Parts: sequence; structure tokens; C-alpha cells
Amino acid sequence: MQVPGLTRDERRELQRETIALLARLLQADTTNPPGNETRAALVLQEYFAGHGLDAQLVGDLPDRQNLIVRLSGARRGPRLGLLGHLDVVPAEADEWTLPPFCGAVRDGYVWGRGATDMKNQVAAQAVAVTRLARAGAPFAGELLFMATADEERGDYCGARWLVRQRPDLVRCDYLLNEGGGTYSVVDGTRLYPLTVGEKAFADFRITVRGPGGHGSVPQHDRNPVERLGRVISAIADHEAAVFVAPFTARYIDRLVADRRLGERLKDPAQARAAIRELHATDPESACEIEPLLGITFSPTILHGGGAAVNVIPSHASVDIDCRILPGYTGDDVRREVDAALAGIDGWEFAWTDLTDANESPVPTPLSAAVERVMDVLVPGAEVIPLHLCGFTDSRWFREAFPDIVAYGFCPFVAEDTATMGGREHARDERIAVEDVPFQTRFFELLVGELLA
Ligand SMILES: [Zn+2]
Repeated sequence: MQVPGLTRDERRELQRETIALLARLLQADTTNPPGNETRAALVLQEYFAGHGLDAQLVGDLPDRQNLIVRLSGARRGPRLGLLGHLDVVPAEADEWTLPPFCGAVRDGYVWGRGATDMKNQVAAQAVAVTRLARAGAPFAGELLFMATADEERGDYCGARWLVRQRPDLVRCDYLLNEGGGTYSVVDGTRLYPLTVGEKAFADFRITVRGPGGHGSVPQHDRNPVERLGRVISAIADHEAAVFVAPFTARYIDRLVADRRLGERLKDPAQARAAIRELHATDPESACEIEPLLGITFSPTILHGGGAAVNVIPSHASVDIDCRILPGYTGDDVRREVDAALAGIDGWEFAWTDLTDANESPVPTPLSAAVERVMDVLVPGAEVIPLHLCGFTDSRWFREAFPDIVAYGFCPFVAEDTATMGGREHARDERIAVEDVPFQTRFFELLVGELLA
């Protein structure tokens, strides 16, 4: 694989340097819980010191430090933050082909928990920073490298802590983080999602109650377990109002080959029926599009009974994973739930987790810079703004610094989403060797393009 602007030897050297750092980061077990991110932060600190850059460790707990490096450019300009989390989710070693913290290079891949989520991006951003430093920091403004703790499980001592306790250290005008950059090929064109916003949690619990009693005497309408079954069916069958953001419409146009079906997906009145059809013919695209159409409900946890099989319980409840797009609030969710359960009485509603959806504007100088760099690296590729269905640490930065432009993007070139998607949080997490220097080159060029 060629990397534009680099000779073969330069590309090989870039690959060697980034993979060496990535392997050491992967070998630092930062499974969260408990985290121990300081292990990986020290690897980075040593790496930066070897290139004459001071890296500062900050945090609330000694074992869970965040690392920050600043690199000032040659003249005044905006500040770009490169953000990545150092913690990883647990790995069941006996399910893996290679040990999860080996950091080995084998069969064309670098293996290890965190290889795609997201020590790859941390390594790529770190090497981009030292390369720019070696070149004399030929850019305007300031570069801020941040490797943080506690993204996967909590949000106690990582990005949220930093923006609230040390805004002086981490304030920036632009931010690049995880969340986008895997590509799909549609009609021969590579589509790269740039995530510009993310959905929020609006999780809630529905509880139904009854008198309880002996299981030998059916209670039908008063048995909380039977009534909860009706509640779950009603919520699962409910068709929440559809909202199609302009860039969601563009994504549908690019992703759905059947034009007529695409038009119906973009029509709020027909979208729910259309998405069911798409699930039957192209489930992968349907799963990508459905969460972008508005509020989603997934019943996930049941509580109730359990005392004995012959005891009708006095209450039962279900927890619903509910996500809302930017622009929606808890009131919108309550309206949909009331509509879904209109025919059922005697249920109680309680929020279990309600956060704010958030987004950054687009287009901006940052999205334009991403497009220009991708045009150089992958001619003909299309960068498409999208909302992310999950969440990232970008939301803490958007909350703390309302004017910030924060996006998720770390492009892949060797493997597409269908091939490598889903490896994060799964067994045998690994990244194609070719993607590692490519990602480093992307961040290096992006700095030059944005901070010109
Ligand atoms: Zn992640």
C-alpha cells in the first residue's frame, strides 16, 4: 500500500515507529475496570521524552492518570486537540487466538485488546505529533495531544474530570476523537462517516404493580408479569415519530441502491415501513440507518418475581435502552411512551439515565480539512457527516466548551467496515498493519491542512 507523499522507505519507517509504539500500548493492560491507565500513560511519556517533548500526567488517582502534550506552532492560530482514551474493555483470554495483551504482529495484523478501540488512534496521533515536532512544528496555533483514562466504563477520572477540573489545560477550538473513519464501498465509492454529533441516553424503567398472591389462582389483569408482557410488546411495536437530518438523507441516498425505497426512507410518514423492508433485503444498511431516524427503544432488562414459582409477584419492571438524537429531549420520549402505552393503564415511569444529545456544526474548517486530506490520501473518497448512535468523550468537551468543533474520525484504508467492523469489544481485536501508518499520515497531514 502506497501512502501519498512518502517514499517506500519513509512509509516503512513510519510503519515501524507507529507499530512499535502501538505494540507497547497494547502490552500495557488497561482493562477497565480497574483501568490502570497510568501504565500506558508512562509508555507515552517515555516515547515523547525520547523526542524531546514534555508530557504532563494529570488526574485524580495515581493509577489513572491522563497524559497531555502541547506543541506550539511557528505562529499564532487556533488550538487543535487530538483526543484518545487509554482504557480498554475486558477480554476473555481463552476465547482469543493470541493473548489479548500480546501486541504481536502476525498474519498482517497487530493484535490486542484496544487495537481498534482505540490505542491505534492514540499511537497514530502520538507519532504524528513527534514527527511534526521533529520537522520544527511547521504550523500555526497549537497542537494538544490528550490520552485519557476511564472512557469505557465510567467517566469519572478521564475526559470529564479534565474538562471540569483542568479546563485551562485542555480547552481547544477543534477536537478530533474516536467515532468515525471506517468505510463502506458503495457503487465503487468509498464512504467515510465523519461523526459530528452523538445520540444521548434516555433510559427508563416501566413498573407495574398488583396485589400478589398464590400462583394456583390466576390473576390475569392484575398479575404484574402478564401486564408487563403487554407493556413490552406495546413499546417494541411502537413506531416513534421519524426525523431525517439533511446529512442522514444524504447518507440514505448513498447507501440504499433501491431509489424508491430510499425516497420512502427519507419520508417521515413512510420511513418505519420502509426500514422494515430494508431489514429484509439489506439488514446491514438497515441497522446503520434505523438508529439515525429518531428515538429508539430496546427493552433489555427484566425485574420481577423470583421468590418462588407459585408466588405471583406484587411488581415487575422492564428497563428500556432508549436513545435520542440531538434536538430531542426527555419530554419527546415521554410523549412517545404515553402514546405507545395509551391502551394500558396502571404503569409507572422512571428515568434511569437521561443525558443530553450533542453535536458540532458542519461544515467547518475542520470538516473541510478532513475532506481535503482524504482527497489526497484516497482520491474519490467521500466524507459523510453522521450522528453516532453511541457516545464518546467528545460530549464532555462540547459541554464544557460550547464553541468547540469536535468530530470523530480515524480513517482506515486496508479493511472496510464489513470486514473489520465489530472487532472492537469482541475477541481477536486486531488492526491491519497497513492501516497503522496510514492513520498516522492522516493526522500529520490534517494538522498541516487545518493549522495552515
Ligand atoms: Zn473507544
